[in-house]
Amino acid sequence: MKTILRFPFLVIIMFLFQAGLSFAQMNSSQSEIEKKFDSYLKPEDLKARLEKLSAYPHHVGSPYDKENAEFILSQYKSWGWDAHIETFYVLFPAPKTRVLEMISPEKFTPILKEPSLKEDRTSNQIDQQLPTYNAYSIDGDVTGELVYVNYGIPSDYDQLDRMGISVKGKIVIARYGGAWRGIKPKVAAEHGAIGCIIYSDPKNDGYYVGDVYPKGAWRNEYGVQRGSVVDMPVYSGDPSTPFVGSTKDVKRLAVKDIKILTKIPVLPISYHDVLPLLKSLVGPVAPNNWKGALPITYHVGPGLTKVHLKVESNWDIKPIHDVIAMIKGSEFPDQWVIRGNHHDGWVNGAEDPLSGQVAEMEEGKAIGELLKTGWRPKRTIVYCAWDGEEPGLLGSTEWCETHADELKQKVVAYINSDTNDRGFLFMEGSHSLETFINNVAKDVIDPEKGISVWKRARDRQIIHTSSLERKRELESAENLKIGAMGSGSDYTPFLQHLGIASINLGFGGEGQGGVYHSVYDSYDHYIRFGDPTFEYGIALSKTAGRAVLRLADSDVLPFNFDDFAERVSTYLNQIENLTKNMREETNQLNMELKDKMFTEVSDPTKTYVPPKPEDPVPYLNFAPLENAVNTLQKSADGYQKAKNEFVKSGKNLSEEQEKNLDQLIYQSERFLTNKEGLTGRPWYEHEIYAPGFYTGYGVKTLPAVREAVESRNWDEASKQAVVVANTLDNYSKEIDKATEMLNTAIK
Ligand SMILES: [Zn+2]
Repeated sequence: MKTILRFPFLVIIMFLFQAGLSFAQMNSSQSEIEKKFDSYLKPEDLKARLEKLSAYPHHVGSPYDKENAEFILSQYKSWGWDAHIETFYVLFPAPKTRVLEMISPEKFTPILKEPSLKEDRTSNQIDQQLPTYNAYSIDGDVTGELVYVNYGIPSDYDQLDRMGISVKGKIVIARYGGAWRGIKPKVAAEHGAIGCIIYSDPKNDGYYVGDVYPKGAWRNEYGVQRGSVVDMPVYSGDPSTPFVGSTKDVKRLAVKDIKILTKIPVLPISYHDVLPLLKSLVGPVAPNNWKGALPITYHVGPGLTKVHLKVESNWDIKPIHDVIAMIKGSEFPDQWVIRGNHHDGWVNGAEDPLSGQVAEMEEGKAIGELLKTGWRPKRTIVYCAWDGEEPGLLGSTEWCETHADELKQKVVAYINSDTNDRGFLFMEGSHSLETFINNVAKDVIDPEKGISVWKRARDRQIIHTSSLERKRELESAENLKIGAMGSGSDYTPFLQHLGIASINLGFGGEGQGGVYHSVYDSYDHYIRFGDPTFEYGIALSKTAGRAVLRLADSDVLPFNFDDFAERVSTYLNQIENLTKNMREETNQLNMELKDKMFTEVSDPTKTYVPPKPEDPVPYLNFAPLENAVNTLQKSADGYQKAKNEFVKSGKNLSEEQEKNLDQLIYQSERFLTNKEGLTGRPWYEHEIYAPGFYTGYGVKTLPAVREAVESRNWDEASKQAVVVANTLDNYSKEIDKATEMLNTAIK
């Protein structure tokens, strides 16, 4: 017989009133375990591990990438875990030819190199470094006039239209920022561009922000941001094996048949290399919000400035090595709590990803110490170190695709981290785990201020909002609202492909950046500007470690459907307001056009093309969704009431009952997916969270409906409202089953 009550009845009731919890997430033995766990965490271990893992470049396919995987494996084994390496074979293009030259109005050849610095000991490992490039750019050789497109996101092209400038047949130059980098070549190609250059403007992460490396932390004139430009919003993982694991003999798409490679060649450059190009541009002066911090007047072009861009890659299949370490659960071995962080970097990758990786390993070490005391987790714990995250979440996605059926059946939740620095806790993820992760954060102490990391993060939000209403709201709220997740790290295949409740955690905001995906993301940089004492690495271990231990050991799983229902209702309101605003703005625009206001106001000495009139926005039928949200709220309330009643009744659940209830609770999240997937991107099955088709990392909630509205596809929006409503109804039915189970147990 199992009991949910390990507390005296009265204490539970007090706890209920104080914290609003109905199933105890924590009991005294849990807090003892966590105290012990904390006592094993040592900053010097993180430091030594970071120095070792970042000693050489460790990108996909490199010798040190494999060596690191083997080292991580040996560590888990030495800590008593059952661990192995799972190898996949992925399409990983590495640069073969990179040519960029300005051929008019004068000759200039960018250096396309990041020089080594004596202050940075690993920056001279030139033979082992991947040259600066964007992975999954197609091969191409193009020559054309240059046009500056700001961030290169859709709204920037609207601005270009107003200036009467087309990028058709041109090479665009975009600065980093504004959206995920892969969006830039995608939108450029949609507008007819033949090539795309992306550069780091000093305004975004260079001298405009702070002193540059090595004097300060920020991007120096030679620093280049590498990165993937695959069309990840369509699917993640090995581009040649959508939906299936990249095992050795898997059937792959030929490179020419892969739809998510870029349509045009792409190359990233530094602000040293971009300066002569931008300086030579003529044409209209760039709008104010397009101007960076280079000592020039920013022009848009096109005109005299012509460049030649040639990019070729070796399209080889490379092995990637995921480290998978397990501790079998003592009571429910078939319920898995998974924790992960990637281990591959673009170069030495001290901050991205090793700062998170060494904290995750510290948790692994501490859990190993707990095992020695005789403790066993109730559920199975799985610690993963992913390879191939940088090119496109390859290691995590291939693993999820290979083991999809088993993972859907067994995984309770996935806890992710990546880069970690000094500063403030951020938490994002599935809203059914919002209260849970808030409670975790309330129990971790900030190393600089001695208050909880939760309070520090909350106070920062209060200070940083100017709205009095929002300040009051934050002050009185029991929980910090956690952000919904788009993409950009290894939670994507778990959450958005398999429908596994996921959380992403990390600290940041006080560490100083500017070396992202460059050779200068090194140990020497990190110990000066990232987290010199490794106390925030320890804070991450404490936060993520607690999340894992509590999920593994809790009695009934601490999912909260009320939080989820409330947030879905907010998302629906947002879409309704969006539609309403679009309707009013369209009417206004058409009226202004009819009244010729744009032509009246424009400067006759400059080219100005007024926008085109828009079709009026019809009234859409969101009723199916409103009803579904209403049902969801009732179901969530019903479960909450049943939980409270159950605790009051003092009744017990049998082990079998508890197992079944747990399964219903964590598998309910699967019902938020739709097997058909999103329109045009069936790999993304989650109906609540998806990376935006035109934002990349940025999330779109209720994506099928929201993106249809944003793209003015009204029929699709109405159709998808019904699809999402059905999905939510199915989810509500699962909650009702859990409620029913508790009500039966009370009788
Ligand atoms: Zn990363």
